Amino acid sequence: MNKTSKDSLEKPLPTPDGDSQVFWDGLKKGELLLQHCDDCGHVQYYQQRICRQCQSVNLQHKAASGRGTIHSFSVVYRAPGPAFKEDVPYAVLLIDLEEGPRMISSLVGKDFNALDFDIPVKLKTIRVADEICLPCFELTIS
Ligand SMILES: [Zn+2]
Repeated sequence: MNKTSKDSLEKPLPTPDGDSQVFWDGLKKGELLLQHCDDCGHVQYYQQRICRQCQSVNLQHKAASGRGTIHSFSVVYRAPGPAFKEDVPYAVLLIDLEEGPRMISSLVGKDFNALDFDIPVKLKTIRVADEICLPCFELTIS
């Protein structure tokens, strides 16, 4: 097997850097860290050096409640590459976090018939490598 075909069978993983290491460390503890601006109160996901609202550098990380609602969703039936072939079908979610930011994530499980707009979800971190946990969401209704 040559390098290219082996690589295509491995899922891409995030590569934490100086700006995002704290975020990935939070997920390993089961926390989704959001940046809160001390100057204007804006809350943002994902990590940046400055507030996207007022350009302040006075940002603090705080753990999100983990609660949100589904703004939109899509069920993926065709794998985007060989590495995802065993995962299909799976659902991609657009989540409105309780704190305000909107984020893309994925559904834990395959209860696609229960998916709907504006229904509650909660955070569940999934370990995908030694140093990487991903923020996913599960339905809170059954
Ligand atoms: Zn701000």
